[in-house]
Amino acid sequence: MTALEGRALAAGIREAAAEEAASLVPVLAAVVATEDPATAWYAGALTKAAGATGIELRESRLDPSDASGVIERLESLSADPEVDGIICLTPLPEGLSLAEAGELIAPGKDVDGASPVSLGRLVAGLPAFAPATAQAVIELLRQSGTQLEGANAVIVGRSIVVGKPLALLLLDENATVTVAHTRTRDLEETTRRADVLVAAAGRARLIGAEHVRPGAVVIDVGTNEEPDGSMVGDVDTAAVEPFAIVTPVPGGVGPVTTAVLMRNVVTAAKRR
Ligand code: NAP
Repeated sequence: MTALEGRALAAGIREAAAEEAASLVPVLAAVVATEDPATAWYAGALTKAAGATGIELRESRLDPSDASGVIERLESLSADPEVDGIICLTPLPEGLSLAEAGELIAPGKDVDGASPVSLGRLVAGLPAFAPATAQAVIELLRQSGTQLEGANAVIVGRSIVVGKPLALLLLDENATVTVAHTRTRDLEETTRRADVLVAAAGRARLIGAEHVRPGAVVIDVGTNEEPDGSMVGDVDTAAVEPFAIVTPVPGGVGPVTTAVLMRNVVTAAKRR
């Protein structure tokens, strides 16, 4: 079946955000305290997306072994009136969890929904920035015209950045949501019930043909590096694509995530 591409959707989101950004010149601060190549790649993608949207990206490169440096920088960026949005990239220095880092980001600048305040507001049904990846999944499903009301949605993965917030967003769309994880007794039986299946486990080719109901819409959030350096998702696309709609990796969730993040920065700048 047809693939569900993310690049055109991402370009549309960025163009709409760029129009609004023109008069604002929003500033996004990115905190990077790692030498991890995947994070460097993501930081590069942020730079490109910010440039295309008319957002100034201010990157703080910090010592990967210094948790207190990250804490101090997040506190100063939160207090800096020139900064509209803050994103803290992972992995973080030892001794600092993402939840702890998120707590230091002023909720109004929390454009990637990392703060417990943002997550709490999401649970309570109050306006908040949702984690951009979770929101990107919703944007892709909307653009595909997938009926979410009453649909069985199964998410594989329960992390605080993807699985859990996405479960809330899908509930808001009136889907019936199941969240699977490593202790799920029968993954295959669970995922085969899905009209909408979201794979966010970070395991290359975890989801094969036997996991997918014919006609299902499959959103592949996973990004896994192969030994040859190429990137693959969590879905065995070649096996599943003949009978289901699947997002590609790369070119699916990734570009929509960065576009959603840029849109959030513009929204934050408008509230200055
Ligand atoms: P994570 O924190 O490692 O969480 C992975 C989740 O998947 C956990 O809940 C884990 O279960 C579950 N899981 C792992 N192996 C499983 C298995 N064999 N069967 C069932 N469940 C399994 O990862 P994450 O940060 O959520 O990221 C997930 C993937 O998405 C990664 O590949 C990451 O690179 C990618 N990602 C992509 C974007 C994007 O914009 N494209 C953004 C963020 C993340 P337990 O809780 O039981 O351990």
